[in-house]
Amino acid sequence: SNSGRLSLAQHRRVVNSQKCVRAGGKHNDLEDVGRDTYHHTFFEMLGNWSFGDYFKEEACSMAWELLTEVYEIPRDRLYVTYFGGDSSLGLSADEECRDIWLRLGVPASHVLPFPLKDNFWEMGDTGPCGPCTEIHYDHVGGGRNAAALVNQGSPDVVEIWNLVFMQYSVEGNLLPLPQHHVDTGMGLERLVTVLQNKRSNYDTDLFTPILDAIHKGCRGPKYQGLVGDADVGRVNMAYRVVADHVRTLCVCITDGIYPGFSGAELVLRRILRRAVRFCSEVLHAPPGLLASLVPTVVEVLVSENCCLGGKKSITRVLVNNEAAFLSSLDRGRRIIERTVQQMEPSTNFPAEVAWSLYGNLGFPLDLIDLMLEEKGISLDLAAFNKLALEDAKVRGRFLEDADIHLDVHSLAQLRSNNVPATDDSPKYAYTLGQHG
Ligand code: ATP
Ligand code: MG
Ligand code: MG
Ligand code: MG
Repeated sequence: SNSGRLSLAQHRRVVNSQKCVRAGGKHNDLEDVGRDTYHHTFFEMLGNWSFGDYFKEEACSMAWELLTEVYEIPRDRLYVTYFGGDSSLGLSADEECRDIWLRLGVPASHVLPFPLKDNFWEMGDTGPCGPCTEIHYDHVGGGRNAAALVNQGSPDVVEIWNLVFMQYSVEGNLLPLPQHHVDTGMGLERLVTVLQNKRSNYDTDLFTPILDAIHKGCRGPKYQGLVGDADVGRVNMAYRVVADHVRTLCVCITDGIYPGFSGAELVLRRILRRAVRFCSEVLHAPPGLLASLVPTVVEVLVSENCCLGGKKSITRVLVNNEAAFLSSLDRGRRIIERTVQQMEPSTNFPAEVAWSLYGNLGFPLDLIDLMLEEKGISLDLAAFNKLALEDAKVRGRFLEDADIHLDVHSLAQLRSNNVPATDDSPKYAYTLGQHG
């Protein structure tokens, strides 16, 4: 976060813009990217913070003023949610927050209670937490009441801003904090979509220059916008995935994270391989397309200092990694095609073949899944996990010789979930596995 160096004693009110990557761990939006038009692996989150200064009343009224008076977003397009309480934890509904919205003039039909999973924010298993209130925008309007679509994953009603009220601390139990804090987050790309009166983040000027550059580079059909489910794995989705992933790659490489074998670096490697695959197989682009997009990405990123001065090194990393994966990709695709031709109708894709794609050719599991889904075929995940477990046992025996115990079940689970590794034991073994 940009605020890392700030002294809280000096700064009780802060605004910032954070670079966010949600492609692994607790927040993982990777699978949604390209399928919808408003989840990215990298996005810029605008925030305002109060460290023991203003609380609910001011946070809500400033947010409402910014959206409706400064940005002039029509009030009837906005819906707000608040925490509706949780009896199992003995937490009552955040009526205080609901009343604030009503006082600000939001009609009761646009003020909606939601449960813990949607409207209670926790940083981790311990630490500050509290109820939140979120603002959603109805892209359709026309006098309808869209309350039923809020938080339902509809592309028509999209969450734009989350206001978190930190008033508790989890230390086993929930304890009230002596001081109250506010932490808000608004997705820049979603806000721009609203302000530029578009239906999709990819139709805003944050993305159209990248989509144009992709078109120039692959000389195939143009981007047509969201088509729907029929889009999965096809050209339009490929445009969105590549435009999204190349932004993430530029930002991460600039910040010193390179595609690699563990932790954030493994996540980036998966993103890169997915991007390379969509460029080559779906857009039929010549090698080098990803790298050719770097100058355009650097131009359109809003975050201050994003990628400044790093164009050459980003390009080098992209070119080298693309070259490393392209030949495996080609072999893998042929293996998949051959296997599919030999499969009995309505059977699962053989786990051994998937395992070999994974282990020998470096295909991320999510990419194998996606490539099979495009052919209407499923992977036998249970059998795949069994192979992972057996493989883990072999590794375990190797460690046993050195009198070290390995939790093989955790290892197999990590492997099947493609979980990035850190340095505790099953995860560390997993990292060794990634290195072959
Ligand atoms: P959603 O329900 O749409 O997945 P979220 O509840 O996970 O969003 P928050 O954790 O509340 O999102 O983050 C604050 C804001 O950041 C959201 O209101 C949204 O504007 C933006 N945001 C969250 N995830 C993404 C993403 N993957 N891509 C773009 N913007 C995002
Ligand atoms: Mg989310
Ligand atoms: Mg949400
Ligand atoms: Mg949210």
